Amino acid sequence: MNQGRLYVFSGPSGAGKGTICSKLVEDGIADLSISMTTRECRPGEIPNQSYYFVSKEKFQETIDENGFLEWAEIYGNRYGTPKAPVLEKLAKGRDVILEIEMQGAMNVKKAYNDAVLIFVLPPNLKVLSDRLRGRGRDTEEQIQLRTKSVIEEIKKIVDYDYYIINGDLDVAVKDVEKLMSGEFKKIDNAAAQKIIKKYEEELQL
Ligand code: ADP
Ligand code: 5GP
Repeated sequence: MNQGRLYVFSGPSGAGKGTICSKLVEDGIADLSISMTTRECRPGEIPNQSYYFVSKEKFQETIDENGFLEWAEIYGNRYGTPKAPVLEKLAKGRDVILEIEMQGAMNVKKAYNDAVLIFVLPPNLKVLSDRLRGRGRDTEEQIQLRTKSVIEEIKKIVDYDYYIINGDLDVAVKDVEKLMSGEFKKIDNAAAQKIIKKYEEELQL
């Protein structure tokens, strides 16, 4: 049986990673890895579905047992991808999706060279800030700050294999499906620089 493929989705907060990944799971295209975290469960989140919410001790135990594919500390909380369920699914031929931040994505690529790294972009920064407002999780001050600093994140696109612009959701999901079937062009340096310039120009307007 063929091994499944590992797909890693990153990109600025609000770009739509979670929305796209949920749709891929709903359509039965791939399985989503559930991360373990030491952060508190937010209203609306479902334990063991949104995340495995664990104590700092349990998280440390899992590190000591070499139980993570990768893990990272973000704003004082730890997040990690449990290794066993991912490897089991891949062995059964299922494609697996990780929705993780960029440092974690780089660590996955180091450990699994075959992993496919996908960067999700908003069509422009105005749409990004509108989506963050619509999601209602951040204050206006946080949204302004995030939108200004997002360019530093977008510069990391050079380290990714593919990018998806999430304008219309159905189009973005179809693009991911095309990408998974090998119909997409990989990011090269010229393409990455063009994308960075486009968002930088919007900031200078
Ligand atoms: P991320 O996981 O990248 O932080 P989310 O998936 O939470 O982003 O999306 C941020 C907000 O934007 C959510 O409120 C979501 O419903 C909305 N959203 C995501 N994709 C689209 C889209 N293609 N069109 C319109 N709204 C979208
Ligand atoms: P949040 O607390 O908003 O759910 O997530 C914060 C950040 O952690 C997001 O960028 C999310 O993609 C990332 N994240 C979630 N799970 C993991 C994980 O298992 N590993 C890594 N490295 N990052 C993760």
